[in-house]
Amino acid sequence: MKIGFIGLGNMGGPMARNLAKSHNVTGFDTLTKPENIPLAQSAAAAAKDADVVITMLPNGDILRSVAAEIHPAMKAAAIHLDCSTVDVESARAVATQAETHGLQAIDAPVSGGIGGATNGTLTFMAGGAKTAFETVQPLFDIMGQKAVHCGASGNGQAAKICNNMILGVTMIATCEAFVLADKLGLDRQAMFDVVSTSSGYSWTMNAYCPAPGIGPESPADNDYQPGFAAELMLKDLNLSQIAAKAADADTPMGQAAAALYKEFVENEGGAGKDFSAMLPRFERRNRG
Ligand code: NAD
Repeated sequence: MKIGFIGLGNMGGPMARNLAKSHNVTGFDTLTKPENIPLAQSAAAAAKDADVVITMLPNGDILRSVAAEIHPAMKAAAIHLDCSTVDVESARAVATQAETHGLQAIDAPVSGGIGGATNGTLTFMAGGAKTAFETVQPLFDIMGQKAVHCGASGNGQAAKICNNMILGVTMIATCEAFVLADKLGLDRQAMFDVVSTSSGYSWTMNAYCPAPGIGPESPADNDYQPGFAAELMLKDLNLSQIAAKAADADTPMGQAAAALYKEFVENEGGAGKDFSAMLPRFERRNRG
């Protein structure tokens, strides 16, 4: 396939490199100029003639402006595959605009981070027409290990923010429980051994334990270097709250998690740390 790839940052760069091993990839990025991917002079030039144009961009506003530039340049029936994490409304607006240009659109945000992008082990959650999803399935197979079709346009983003709202809330719950356990004199290894095999178990406890030296290796064992940065968790929690407001859904735990990560990132030294660094954040505090 002929692929245009726009947004060659931490995630897009390695994803494009994996695709370039077996497809004809032309990239574009306003800042990053990787040497091992052929580059175009503009987003429209990268998109022209492509069967599939992939975007991997920071947010919904940038996605909308890039979509407005590339859709008129794309060839008829080509697919715009957006893998960025953006608000549901932007994903749906971009898909509607694609249709007006005779194009197909898939929103397919990812889970798996930079390691997943590099190793080709991402999980994709996709919204859009099933036929378009099936057409890009071979690309998902190269960039990832699993792709789930979640329904109509925007549903990939909906799945992503619901998943990450659970993740943020659960990480906070795991961290605050560790600190309570510490203060009650419970050994962290004993805490892990019980919870990881009891009804409080979760991915954050069992696979990504926020306590250094406990459980499988995780960012906690590397001074909380990300991993999945606290800023990105805050971004996703904010997206969940924008969506919850628009859909009139009551999400008190998501709201509390968004407020805690905002405080952590903006005022408590959380920027640049893994999102599991909530554990030392709770350690530094008392109840009042
Ligand atoms: P990044 O900032 O490293 O990369 C984004 C790239 O887009 C940058 O290189 C930037 O120069 C480029 N860009 C910005 N505006 C542009 C424009 N108008 N035209 C062309 N290029 C433009 O970010 P990232 O970590 O690669 O994340 C990309 C997306 O993936 C985000 O939506 C993020 O939320 C999501 N995501 C990231 C991770 C992660 O661990 N980094 C995990 C899952 C999802």
